[in-house]
Amino acid sequence: MKELSDLLISCVKNIDSKDQALDKEEKQLNGRLEQIKKERAQLRERRNRAVNYPEDIRVTTFPICPRCYLKDGFSIKLTPIPGTAETDKSECRQCGYLLEEEV
Ligand SMILES: [Zn+2]
Repeated sequence: MKELSDLLISCVKNIDSKDQALDKEEKQLNGRLEQIKKERAQLRERRNRAVNYPEDIRVTTFPICPRCYLKDGFSIKLTPIPGTAETDKSECRQCGYLLEEEV
């Protein structure tokens, strides 16, 4: 009878242990799932910004950094920097994007 009792206890302990491992794995997967949802939402926002990229941002005197705008939606004005006789230059102080335009 003791053998049966030991077998049953062992069986239950084994099941409990596997159940706890599955709980842990389930929590990790749920965390990853939440991460995927956030990443996907961010990607969709970026995509929308690219698709709806406003024409006026591209043609103002001091254009807004397209890289920062597309990445985070930030409207950061590009700062004019010394160019050449043929080229006007401006850069983004946030990300270093360099815009070169022929004069
Ligand atoms: Zn930038």
